[in-house]
Amino acid sequence: MPNTSDESLDPQDWPSLRLQGHRMLDDMLDYLATLRARPVWQPIPAPLRAGFAQPLPQEGRALEEVHARFMQEVLPYAVGNAHPGFFGWVHGGGTPVGMLAEMLAAGLNANLGGRDQMPLEVERQVLHWMRELFGFPVTASGLFLTGTSMANMLALLVARFRALGPAVREQGLAGAGGARLLAYTSAGAHGCIAQALDLAGLGTAALRVIPMNDQFQIDTAALEAAIVADRAAGWQPFFVAATAGSVDVGAIDDLNAVADIARRHELWFHVDGAYGALAMLSPQLAPLLAGIERADSIAFDFHKWAQVPYDAGFILVRDGDLHRRTFDAPATYLRRDTRGMAAGSPWPCDFGPDLSRGFRALKTWFTIEVYGAARIGALIAETCALARYLAERVAEQAELELLAPVALNIVCFRHRAPDIDRFNAALVADVQESGRAAPSLTTLRGQTAIRVAVVNHRSGRQDIDALLDAVLTLGAARLAIPPQ
Ligand SMILES: *Cc1c(COP(=O)(O)O)cnc(C)c1O
Repeated sequence: MPNTSDESLDPQDWPSLRLQGHRMLDDMLDYLATLRARPVWQPIPAPLRAGFAQPLPQEGRALEEVHARFMQEVLPYAVGNAHPGFFGWVHGGGTPVGMLAEMLAAGLNANLGGRDQMPLEVERQVLHWMRELFGFPVTASGLFLTGTSMANMLALLVARFRALGPAVREQGLAGAGGARLLAYTSAGAHGCIAQALDLAGLGTAALRVIPMNDQFQIDTAALEAAIVADRAAGWQPFFVAATAGSVDVGAIDDLNAVADIARRHELWFHVDGAYGALAMLSPQLAPLLAGIERADSIAFDFHKWAQVPYDAGFILVRDGDLHRRTFDAPATYLRRDTRGMAAGSPWPCDFGPDLSRGFRALKTWFTIEVYGAARIGALIAETCALARYLAERVAEQAELELLAPVALNIVCFRHRAPDIDRFNAALVADVQESGRAAPSLTTLRGQTAIRVAVVNHRSGRQDIDALLDAVLTLGAARLAIPPQ
């Protein structure tokens, strides 16, 4: 018999692992403490990329060696969303507390699919907080997922189950009479809503895309007119997804108006609040979300505005029983009991397609426990204040032009120039490659826009100033290039 402790993957020499572990922790804390001194992003050198296409290593190497490689070859070439100058997309910045909690979760290696264990109570605690935050009843269910893309899809599946009943789980859409189902969302909705229709078997053609008003919100009159016309034509409208914090401009649909329409026409009222829903944590911003408490389901991410490290998406469903019946499945090895490890039913695996699940709840619980809801709400409000500051500074510059109203934390503008769309696309790449700041590019009503999303708790006025300075100096340099 081999000595099992020698054969395991645990070290023979714990003290040296401990030492190396401390070094790794120090390196990461140093990284977080000195972010502003680094480039936000830098291109990956070709030889470095090529070094990551090696054959499967048969022999291992020292942890120290692999860690050194991580520090030199991986860490400097990430997207940079931890950096205060990152404004490209709605990405959270992460926190040291979240990082440490993630380490604890990995050490415990809990599988949150089910069984009677305290980690599940941590997840239920977060669910309890979210019911409270959104004014949902105690019978509402919730589940951690990878992100809002998944959460939107699960919401659609619960709505599909409500529309077609248990038959859809066995007979599929055709057998359950689902061929005429229609869903609704706005032209400003995230692409994952259409993808959810595709994945749910309804097809993207079953999504009616409603135009936006001049505030980039769903045109509610057009929404209602479409539902009425579709029903008259023999279709079966069943689902509407409103957006709270749109990807392009941060617009919030009129949630009460959408809720009224959903009620009048008996549609499932879903809110894609990927990042915007957690504005509820700010007493100043919460009124903008009025009506969210009437939703049948809400999808959102802790990894965006709440700064929990990736990934930590969440779905909240008002009718927890309906949610469970959409997904639960009998399996003998998943049998339940009132005692032993099989107690504590229902389990998370009854509420979604994942069986094995990581302990995403722990880093979320730590983040909320350590920082408190009020402080997270305050930093969310601060990112919106920074966006307004940027919008004011843009308005002062003759070279720049705002392209959308600033509803929350996203500012879209452009630099004036000949061949303006191509110029701004090139300018965004110039700024990204300079490492000084990271805005992104979008298209608003056919116009190419520089998009700045302020999400990171580390960003301050100095970072907005640095971004603006980079846009103006690199813009002037680009304007000075003689036409070819
Ligand atoms: C980010 C985002 C999504 C997608 O969420 P993931 O967590 O990336 O899957 C969906 N909708 C909106 C409005 C978003 O901002």
